[in-house]
Amino acid sequence: MHRDPDCIFCKIIAGEIPSKQVYQDELVTAFYDINPVAPVHVLIVPNKHIPSVNHVQPEDETMLGHMFSVARQVAEQLGVAERGYRLILNTGEHAGQVVFHVHMHLLGGRPLGRMVCR
Ligand code: AMP
Ligand code: ZN
Repeated sequence: MHRDPDCIFCKIIAGEIPSKQVYQDELVTAFYDINPVAPVHVLIVPNKHIPSVNHVQPEDETMLGHMFSVARQVAEQLGVAERGYRLILNTGEHAGQVVFHVHMHLLGGRPLGRMVCR
């Protein structure tokens, strides 16, 4: 599995940095965000190091589809599936991406307001 030795999420996936893990399989890992902005705030990440959506390749499509399937399972497991949740993938500077390893935020547990501030 391709990894970046300096990447914090690669280290979390490998268990070298502690996290509160909620799911892991051969393609993806899900763990609680360290700085939650909603009662449920989980990050779902590919086990393969991909810096951002700008770096996604056709060969990643199976794994990317699987991320949605895992999002559905995690939402169910954490009790937000019925009332709803938001999936966010920040990409690049204007989106405020801070960690350059693809991650899907799963947010829920309260009304989340409008999608983007005007
Ligand atoms: P983004 O702005 O989309 O790049 O989001 C990066 C997210 O990673 C932020 O919500 C951070 O709180 C979260 N984060 C950074 N370091 C850790 C960590 N060690 N464990 C869990 N979440 C983290
Ligand atoms: Zn990484």
